[in-house]
Amino acid sequence: MEKNNKNKIILIIADGIGDRPIKELEYKTPLEAANTPNLDRMAKEGINGTMHTVDRGIRPGSDIAHLLIFGYPYRKYYSGRGVFEVLGIGMELHHGDIAFRGNLATVEGGKIVDRRAGRMESSLIIPKKMTVEIEDVKFCLKPGSLHRVAVIMRGNGLTSNIQDIDPHELSAEPRRKISLDSSPESEKTERIVNEFIDYMSDFISKHPENVKRKKEGKPYSNFLLLRGAGKHMDVPPLSEKYHLKACCISGGGLYKGIAKYVGMDIIEVEGATGKLDTDLNAKIKEAIHQTKNYDLVFVHMKFADSLSEVGDFKGKKEFIERIDKSLAPILEMDNVIVFFSGDHSTPCKLQAHSGDPLPAVIWGPKEMIQTDKVERFGERPCQEGGMGHFNALNIMHKLLNISGKQKLLGA
Ligand code: ZN
Repeated sequence: MEKNNKNKIILIIADGIGDRPIKELEYKTPLEAANTPNLDRMAKEGINGTMHTVDRGIRPGSDIAHLLIFGYPYRKYYSGRGVFEVLGIGMELHHGDIAFRGNLATVEGGKIVDRRAGRMESSLIIPKKMTVEIEDVKFCLKPGSLHRVAVIMRGNGLTSNIQDIDPHELSAEPRRKISLDSSPESEKTERIVNEFIDYMSDFISKHPENVKRKKEGKPYSNFLLLRGAGKHMDVPPLSEKYHLKACCISGGGLYKGIAKYVGMDIIEVEGATGKLDTDLNAKIKEAIHQTKNYDLVFVHMKFADSLSEVGDFKGKKEFIERIDKSLAPILEMDNVIVFFSGDHSTPCKLQAHSGDPLPAVIWGPKEMIQTDKVERFGERPCQEGGMGHFNALNIMHKLLNISGKQKLLGA
């Protein structure tokens, strides 16, 4: 193997970092308007480009975007978000399991009056480990944060090709006709999910906490809404696919779930919350520490996306400045290759994910990177970069190549 394969990779994804020019920022993007000396140094010393996680103009969800960043084509490896949510809160999935995201909800007169039951804590109602058996199918439940509940459905002859029980709107009835085809698997899954929902609704509404809340006029729950059904499949882990030992540092459960799905170890960092108060410095410090144990450290930073979704471009700019500050210790290292970009753009004025390209940079030891003429990190400067435009499925190959870990194709 080449001499330089000692280099470790730090892959940093700032969720929703890409944006469009904003009038109030003198037609700069929040990233361009932010004071980012460390990212600018990475741009100057590294190689830059623009990236679509799926392809030009496609608006990706965060789950599919991350699968592609890790090198997993979504058509083959994506079946539904439930899988990642369930893995992300630490439940184990077996091949063929159906995983759901669940919500405690309030239904009156057959119609949904609160999809989240006042965001009441599901741990008040659902035991830490709960199982329900219907015919030859076993359900495993675990309370998540606030009103959320993770659900696994385990048995033979089941499918994830079903609609959500959750109609995603108020004053609507929970969906009961959920099969999307006429296969025996759909028929069985629909019948058993419905029996499970009836059982759970009875269990939830009779729970003393809910009886008490209803009497006191407080938000209460009497229904379990399910959505995001996904079928778990065994995927080749990163260790097999790229011969990399990899770990994940993230506050958000979804990202831990995706990382676990592709075989990363999850490293918990105190203060990593995925929210505005998250401790970015602690995450980067831990990432640097973990380069001793892992070939690849994935760091996810969530909150620029959350601020974009409420249109807070000033907050986004400030959060990007915090991201930039946290990166300083990495630039002291001489044995890491760093990739920095986002999973999709989330323009503040759209308050939603967009299919706009993302700025991206690879930085590392001087003798290993073909640099370019870009001097600042941002949506527009990166358009001039040496990597040109690429899709996320190229990232892992680029990083393996630069770090000396890429296999030779041919002889
Ligand atoms: Zn995202």
